[in-house]
Amino acid sequence: MGGLRDLYQEVILEHSKVPRNYREIAGADHKAEGFNPLCGDRFTVYLHLDGETIRDISFQGSGCAISKASASMMTQTLKGKTRDEAEKLFGKFHDLVTGQGHPSESEMGKLAVFSGVSEFPARVKCATLAWHTLQAALEGQQDAVSTE
Ligand code: ZN
Repeated sequence: MGGLRDLYQEVILEHSKVPRNYREIAGADHKAEGFNPLCGDRFTVYLHLDGETIRDISFQGSGCAISKASASMMTQTLKGKTRDEAEKLFGKFHDLVTGQGHPSESEMGKLAVFSGVSEFPARVKCATLAWHTLQAALEGQQDAVSTE
């Protein structure tokens, strides 16, 4: 019975069709571009920081359903969080999609829908692209990041 899995798939498809925070932030103080050559996913992540807090976060670009849904849910999750919290969550998200760790659902919140990605190693880069791009933006990296 794939009840939970069907639900997860539905959430991912819904976010890929109607991505949240899909816009440019005019005058973003941090931004970076990320590219996943394996799949062709390409996104720009925009940030507006207030001290250590992420006041606003958005993205634009194109990619497969998993990469787009992941970017959409990442922006939803991180708004109002600190830089430090974002880094920690990325670590847990990475564990979740690579199957290396088993962060609890309460730690992951809505991001738990990506747990099924661990069964498809080729899609891990799709799921983590937005997060790598976010990290590059936070670090003020000028060159586009590539998952390769
Ligand atoms: Zn992809």
